[in-house]
Amino acid sequence: MPVVVESISELRNAIDRLHPPSVGLVPTMGALHAGHERLIACARAETAAVVVSIFVNPLQFDQASDLNTYPRDLDRDLALCGKHGVDIVFAPSVEEMYAVTPMFAVDVGAMAEHLCGRFRPGHFRGVATVVLKLFNIVQPNIAYFGQKDAQQLAIVRRMVREFNVPISIVGVETVREADGLAISSRNTRLSPDERAIAPALYRAVRAAADAIAAGATDTGDIRRRAAAAIPADGRLRLEYLEIVDPVTMQPVATAIQDVLVAGAMWVGSTRLIDNVAVPK
Ligand code: AMP
Repeated sequence: MPVVVESISELRNAIDRLHPPSVGLVPTMGALHAGHERLIACARAETAAVVVSIFVNPLQFDQASDLNTYPRDLDRDLALCGKHGVDIVFAPSVEEMYAVTPMFAVDVGAMAEHLCGRFRPGHFRGVATVVLKLFNIVQPNIAYFGQKDAQQLAIVRRMVREFNVPISIVGVETVREADGLAISSRNTRLSPDERAIAPALYRAVRAAADAIAAGATDTGDIRRRAAAAIPADGRLRLEYLEIVDPVTMQPVATAIQDVLVAGAMWVGSTRLIDNVAVPK
């Protein structure tokens, strides 16, 4: 007798029982570091075949200079993937990914209105579009994303939910340097002096998160205090420090449920982002 299922989640589970999750995808833009390594290790532990994609997606860059100077080192990346037992590295050219001039894109809507989306117009439309393309190309069972890019992770989760994409999304904890700085490919652009002051962003986000965990609820006040504690240094410019709902990415006025504290800061000419989740 066939199995009869009525809910989408039951259907997915029934299909998973026929074909156990076997392919894990880790989408990246290359210049691999310890953050990517943790994603790959999670995929390696949970899936039989690990695919890492390396593609610097022009569609998600709002500044040509950022795209042109984005660090690239495929040989080093391949060596690192080899060390971690990656089965396939998918490293397409721009022409391969965008074989026809794009006429369609994923419209992200309100989830891109705040945080990075506010300052990087079109960024998340480009991210969601390339992620959906990668999902269709690789057809993984599970895809791994870092919590460091919390707005991206929330948007991908929502996209697969709204479009019924049959892929589980796993969020992986942010890997940090000893002084708290979130590891990022863009950290290589920092001068030694800039590197020394770069943890100011994490400290500000952490201070706001700690205040909420300790019972503070007025997000306007919490944000002002955290921003005021950033050292007065001409090289540091806070772009935003927001307190949002971790699912919808909408600002909250009173932090009485789960929230995400997220920030972006310019350190010289390098833009860094970070966030801390505060469960209630
Ligand atoms: P990127 O190559 O910067 O596009 O990042 C590829 C994936 O690695 C994304 O899902 C990022 O969120 C994730 N990632 C980047 N940095 C870190 C980090 N420090 N810790 C954990 N995941 C990270």
